[in-house]
Amino acid sequence: MLILYLKKKEMTMTSRRQFMHALLPLSSVFLLAACQSKAPVAPTAAAARYKATGATVLDANAQKTKIWIKCPRCGYTTETEIDTPTADKPFEMEWKCPRCGRRQKITVEVATAG
Ligand SMILES: [Zn+2]
Repeated sequence: MLILYLKKKEMTMTSRRQFMHALLPLSSVFLLAACQSKAPVAPTAAAARYKATGATVLDANAQKTKIWIKCPRCGYTTETEIDTPTADKPFEMEWKCPRCGRRQKITVEVATAG
């Protein structure tokens, strides 16, 4: 009876740990996305290596980074491709909303590890 109980407990703990393991990277991506305004698609794992202000990084490779911009004033959204920033060369631009003309500073930089 006791052995059975212990076995059951062990199993629950193991599966819970595995569950958390699978959930953790996923939830951090969701949290990251939730901090910005909601992007139309979930950012890829590669996108998580970069942090942006005024925009959301959707995808990134060695050359190009896809970002999503939403105008906080009128809600206009657009997707654009920029040169992937490096640790010593962050991306910076002043974006002007084509609908309402609001200017917004956009920066994309390599997220520092840890
Ligand atoms: Zn606008």
